[in-house]
Amino acid sequence: MTQTVYLNGKFLPIEQAYVPVLDRGFIFGDGVYEVIPVYSGHPFRLREHLKRLDQSLTAIRLPNPHDAYTWERLIRELLVPNMACSSEYKDISLYLQVTRGPAPRDHAFPIEVVPTVFMMCSPLVTPSAAIREQGVAAVSADDFRWDRCDIKAISLLPNVLLRQMAVDASAVETVLFRDGILTEGAVSNIFAVENGVILAPPKDNHMLPGITYDLILELAEANDIPLEIGHFEEVRIRAADELWTTSSAREILPITTLDGKPIAGGKPGPVFKRMYEIYQNYKQDVMRTVG
Ligand code: PMP
Repeated sequence: MTQTVYLNGKFLPIEQAYVPVLDRGFIFGDGVYEVIPVYSGHPFRLREHLKRLDQSLTAIRLPNPHDAYTWERLIRELLVPNMACSSEYKDISLYLQVTRGPAPRDHAFPIEVVPTVFMMCSPLVTPSAAIREQGVAAVSADDFRWDRCDIKAISLLPNVLLRQMAVDASAVETVLFRDGILTEGAVSNIFAVENGVILAPPKDNHMLPGITYDLILELAEANDIPLEIGHFEEVRIRAADELWTTSSAREILPITTLDGKPIAGGKPGPVFKRMYEIYQNYKQDVMRTVG
């Protein structure tokens, strides 16, 4: 069965979904996006994702084409054919993108803005138990991105180059340091653990405010796991007891080597194990209670 996508008011087979070459998303990377995990048909933390989308749109001065109610209706409508054709997997990653739309090429905003809205679904494959139990390798790099990493912009060339560094080193993530201070990963947020305390960088313009990041903070607080938010120096991160990479797709994954050197014992740590369990329980509870 062919994949159904959403483009500018229409649900159609992916092969029939076309965008004009002058779309500013194509020409300038002028747009924003979201990736929403969908567990057994239930979009996870949808309100939070739509809020972040709204913040990204406000930051690039593009009016939100839909209110939250309409977004939810469109998302649920798109899920129906995609759930039906995904018998081998039950979880979905929903990708949503809004660009400033097609216009003659000029950096300045076009007068009449008709944004392009696109959504598609793909299988959500969370890391296997084997990977989780072993942990993953990461490399590090200087965070050479711009100063508005808080915007979930589709112009991701720096992240593409940084992520490829990890792939080239057979690692899963590139941990970024800006002026010697931990920011985040190329495609995820990064947490460390030191003496049982979770260390998290602050939500500022140097990192994407991850939905998973927020949830981990909430869960840490609710479960009395000590947490420190701050600017952490590279030496401290390299000497940490645990390091995690977190995102909607990865959930929480322990990093057990950084640049080829083991983090603590080179094994997932106890705080990770506890948080992973809390996270999974939370997910189950939420899924049981949503309609
Ligand atoms: N930082 C970056 C740079 C990302 O690309 C992502 C998501 N892929 C995240 C953090 C994590 O965000 P979320 O938890 O909302 O998936």
